[in-house]
Amino acid sequence: MKRTLLPDLVVDARGARGGTGVTVEDGVVVGVGPVSDGERLPGRALMPGFVNAHSHAFQRGLRGLVERIEPSRPRDDFWTWRERMYALAEGLDPASIREAGRRCYAEMLSAGYTGVTEFHYVHHRPDGAAYEEPNALAEALVSAAEDVGIRLLLLPVAYARGGVPRFRDPELGVFLARVERLRGYAGDRPLVEVGVAAHSVRAVPRSWLEGIGEYAAAGGLALHVHADEQPREIESCVEEHGMRPIELLEETGSLGPRTTVVHATHADDRELDLVARRGSSVCACPTTEGNLGDGFLPAGRIMGRGIPLSIGSDSHVRIDPFEELREIETNARRLSGRRNLLVPPGETSPAPWLLRAGWGRDAIEPGSPADLVEIDLTHPVLADVDPAALPAALVFGAGSAVVAGAWVDGRRVSGVDKDG
Ligand SMILES: [Zn+2]
Repeated sequence: MKRTLLPDLVVDARGARGGTGVTVEDGVVVGVGPVSDGERLPGRALMPGFVNAHSHAFQRGLRGLVERIEPSRPRDDFWTWRERMYALAEGLDPASIREAGRRCYAEMLSAGYTGVTEFHYVHHRPDGAAYEEPNALAEALVSAAEDVGIRLLLLPVAYARGGVPRFRDPELGVFLARVERLRGYAGDRPLVEVGVAAHSVRAVPRSWLEGIGEYAAAGGLALHVHADEQPREIESCVEEHGMRPIELLEETGSLGPRTTVVHATHADDRELDLVARRGSSVCACPTTEGNLGDGFLPAGRIMGRGIPLSIGSDSHVRIDPFEELREIETNARRLSGRRNLLVPPGETSPAPWLLRAGWGRDAIEPGSPADLVEIDLTHPVLADVDPAALPAALVFGAGSAVVAGAWVDGRRVSGVDKDG
């Protein structure tokens, strides 16, 4: 069915314009332009939906529970947090991971994310034995996404060593066979795509990275990997391989146009040059990185090299795309003592570059998925904001509370005054 939505404003990275309709058919935007008639969305602006490019849905269960010192561990850091995350992961089963996924994905939709990339590494029973259906937990996350109507890029994650038994596979062939099976399961599900991931250079040996890189390239699949999140990870990689994590990804054929390096917090210039040369992207997770004490990514050096950036709410300490974007520029300001830093050549404000990172595109355009977010222009946060200032006001002054509804694949899946 073809329908034309007529909000008060249509927002892209540059500004907002009125009198503009968005025509949607079969889940795709087929037209954007001046119209006089359509389904009116009074008091609303429409903009592209945000893409949450890095999620571990179950970790939302730690929210509020890990913000205190354990008497036995007076010095808390990423590694002590990780032990508590492992304990949470140990208790999951197909029903509880689906429930955790539903809660997490529903919150994402309400916050303005219309798509999520789930970096999924809890595969087996707690003792490491496979479920009867080896993708039982992955399929539970597919169900969770379908239950709430969010678009899902599901990444089964290879884990060979470290962690707990239920994360690990005995050999690469076993892992890839499961990925293949999951791709069959996802098949014709319209909101679901399957990619592949390696957890990190510490969790898989070099030969696995080579095999996964080859598999992803052959299938044209998205490939994600955590890298350069913590200094200790870099030190062990240099010790084992004689090179840094992103250098190892390059050596093993893991960097390509569909590769996303998650974090890159401590990446050096040579590593960023490799990411840029291969056309790979970086995913920043500032609220989680801040919560875990990871550090702050080299945002200026990433932007300067033209590396595409995306955002993720990762551990879900907070789910708010506006806050992820704002933290990127605000942290850069704190560290430099300057303002308006992440401004590409030819532009004057960081807001457009940040919004493009959040959306994964420039604007609502014909041919793009009809994944849209309604902004409540009557919200007190946006009262008296000039339309020309709206993009920057959203990045620097707003939060997920201004989101009034979300559309995925041309259907309204979340929001007040739900009209189907
Ligand atoms: Zn992660």
